[in-house]
Amino acid sequence: MTANDMLYDLCIIGAGPMGSAAARHATLIEPGLKVCVIGPKEPKNYQETLECSHGIFSSHYDEGRIATLLHQWQSRAELARRSQSRFSEIAQQTGIEFYERVGHLVIGNQNDPYIQRVQKIMACMKTQVEILDKRGLSEKYPFLSQTLSEDTFILSESSGYVSPRRLIKAQLKAARLQGCALIDDVVDHVTEVNQSDGSKQMKVSTRKGQIYLARKVLLAPGGFIGFRDLLPKGKKLDIKLMKPRLAFAELTDRDVRRLSNMPVITWKDKLRSIHCYILPPIKYPDGKYYIKIGRRSEEEFHSADEVAEYFKRDPSEKAADSELLGLLLKLIKDLEVVSSHGDSCFTAHTPTGRLYCDMITPTLGVAAVGNGCGVDTSEEIGNMAARMIVSGRWNHDLPYEKFKAKFKVESSVPSSL
Ligand SMILES: Cc1cc2nc3c(=O)[nH]c(=O)nc-3n(C[C@H](O)[C@H](O)[C@H](O)COP(=O)(O)OP(=O)(O)OC[C@H]3O[C@@H](n4cnc5c(N)ncnc54)[C@H](O)[C@@H]3O)c2cc1C
Repeated sequence: MTANDMLYDLCIIGAGPMGSAAARHATLIEPGLKVCVIGPKEPKNYQETLECSHGIFSSHYDEGRIATLLHQWQSRAELARRSQSRFSEIAQQTGIEFYERVGHLVIGNQNDPYIQRVQKIMACMKTQVEILDKRGLSEKYPFLSQTLSEDTFILSESSGYVSPRRLIKAQLKAARLQGCALIDDVVDHVTEVNQSDGSKQMKVSTRKGQIYLARKVLLAPGGFIGFRDLLPKGKKLDIKLMKPRLAFAELTDRDVRRLSNMPVITWKDKLRSIHCYILPPIKYPDGKYYIKIGRRSEEEFHSADEVAEYFKRDPSEKAADSELLGLLLKLIKDLEVVSSHGDSCFTAHTPTGRLYCDMITPTLGVAAVGNGCGVDTSEEIGNMAARMIVSGRWNHDLPYEKFKAKFKVESSVPSSL
């Protein structure tokens, strides 16, 4: 182990949407604060990453995440609204564009509980929304199917989607310009060390054999939080890791042109057992355009080994969910699918449905667990977490109780998560 001389004021573990946003905010709140972010770069080859016993991936290796104001909970809608309000400022500061305002449609049934909850929040938040029927929908988006039922009810809002890869790049660039150090490594252990003067220091040991010392540590490693010794002994956060159902459909050039004004779509119709979200055509690093369709499944991961096994193959080698592909073909008229594939990823969920943003000890904080919408809301979560860890106490206008971390009781903790 090599000990670094530098004593950081704050070490953030995890360079994902939450960690990168927290790094930008921490260096903004207190200029001159010595901050570092430790997190691995996206792997080029998943198998190799596992073989060198890395085993840490992320929930953000993708080009499209829905960013919307149409949420079922007010606190989530508020986090999303504040995040969106700063996207253009971050893009301007860094020269990195990451937000596409293509619009967001929620297609459903007026009596559906989800639609009713969203409408209630919209009214509270005064969100500007257009209400469409089936005819209005086909006038605006002629490529969308006629097979929708007559009682279809549509909310149309002006948000869109974010590229999580580019959002993180922008947040980290801004943080670096404000003095934050970026370290490409995986943290294996975090320990609290008593100093001779009675104060505490945090010792952060990494896979590359480095030791970093910090006055405080913020944990932002997403659902991987239980995969390394990051929390105090015996503490396990109450989270579930769920396997999402997904299909990426490669498009022809003709469909890319034809669908050029396609919005993000959430399609929920409990009566007809339909529940999915769809991202419009997006160009991926292989130069091809894909539409992504996905939904949450009830399939849960129970151990880090199960996750490792699942991540073994690269995303492009995973089979697409055929039922979701079927729904896509039903919704978009005459769609030609050149090829299809799935993905390797998970979503992390809490029993409260809200992220955890909390101080675990006076020197250790956590901001993690996105519940399927952690990119959309990450910019304001970064602000919330940075204020908390820098001041050592809750320091945000949204109520602390909503974000309080919950821990598993010892007997229900599976050994490796
Ligand atoms: C298929 C899918 C679709 C989704 N759709 C949406 C959507 O439409 N809208 C939306 O807002 N959200 C969506 N989400 C959820 C969103 O991607 C996550 O909530 C978000 O990425 C969580 O951010 P995070 O920073 O907490 O965690 P992550 O994105 O997982 O980032 C954590 C980072 O910490 C690093 N890390 C982990 N352990 C360590 C360690 N020991 N040492 C150092 N670094 C470590 C990881 O490598 C990673 O880079 C989706 C997720 C999936 C999988």
